Amino acid sequence: MAMPTILSATSIIESKIPQLKTFSKELKTRGIKPKLKVLLIGNNPASEIYVKNKQKRCHELDIDFELVKLSSTVNENEVLKLIEDSNQDPKITGFFIQFPVPNHLKHLNFTQLINPEKDVDGFHFQNIKGIYNGKNEGLAPCTPTGIINLFKHYQINIEGKHIAIIGRSLIVGKPLALMLTNHNATVTLCHSKTNNIASITKAADIIIVAIGSANFLSKDHLSDDKKQIIIDVGMNKLNDQLVGDVNFSEVEKHVKAITPVPGGVGPLTVLSLMENILIAAEKQGKQV
Ligand code: NAP
Repeated sequence: MAMPTILSATSIIESKIPQLKTFSKELKTRGIKPKLKVLLIGNNPASEIYVKNKQKRCHELDIDFELVKLSSTVNENEVLKLIEDSNQDPKITGFFIQFPVPNHLKHLNFTQLINPEKDVDGFHFQNIKGIYNGKNEGLAPCTPTGIINLFKHYQINIEGKHIAIIGRSLIVGKPLALMLTNHNATVTLCHSKTNNIASITKAADIIIVAIGSANFLSKDHLSDDKKQIIIDVGMNKLNDQLVGDVNFSEVEKHVKAITPVPGGVGPLTVLSLMENILIAAEKQGKQV
């Protein structure tokens, strides 16, 4: 049986990093100095790792990086003040809060509190508007952009294709559905209340899973007649290992192509973040 193409991030990173380095250097020659500030609240071990990965990439691309760590019991007003100060600080060109936040802060609408010009995560409604109206004017959310870049890199034509997405979060599923629609795919967006998900995934050309449930997608979700492409967004800890939402070892033999976890969508999300940081800095035109 033919083995599937493994849609690894490695070759994308190899081609994209030099481009981003050139972009970063070019900004510097124009007197523009990108600076990312990250707010990390509490001590979630996964968040610590994600922030470290982002810091490493910033360093590689000569982007200034500032991490503010706050205790999990921090007072709400202190957080709001810090956000406001970062919104106002002209040296900060990109800013985000690493999710998840502690329960006592969950009621705060963090994504809408950040200055949209500095919103390098691309979650502010002012940025989402560009996806909604198909004009791509704002900073686009990083994971969906990473997935679109993956399709481009591996020359996977999505026009006219039926793509089933499982998961309708504001950071992955919903914006991704709009972005793929803008690229002329036909999208079915599934969620926890969808009846008979397998009947939808079986009919799709491409299946994207973003639900946060280890090994959820099995052979039973796949088509019996055609080989499909599987994109696994999930990042779950299982027996101390990072695993996706797709049961990789079970489905790999039956699909045309599949992303690995780790080494698939995760690093592409970080690359999109780096690109957004450079774009945001350029738009703000901050001088050294
Ligand atoms: P989220 O906000 O928790 O949303 C989960 C979505 O999945 C919801 O829409 C939920 O449906 C749906 N869902 C949950 N269980 C389901 C089931 N059994 N069947 C069908 N739908 C189900 O999740 P998220 O923030 O989008 O993250 C999803 C996963 O992606 C997590 O593992 C996360 O760590 C990972 N992630 C990875 C990256 C990356 O860079 N690779 C980036 C972001 C997130 P309802 O809306 O009906 O509740």
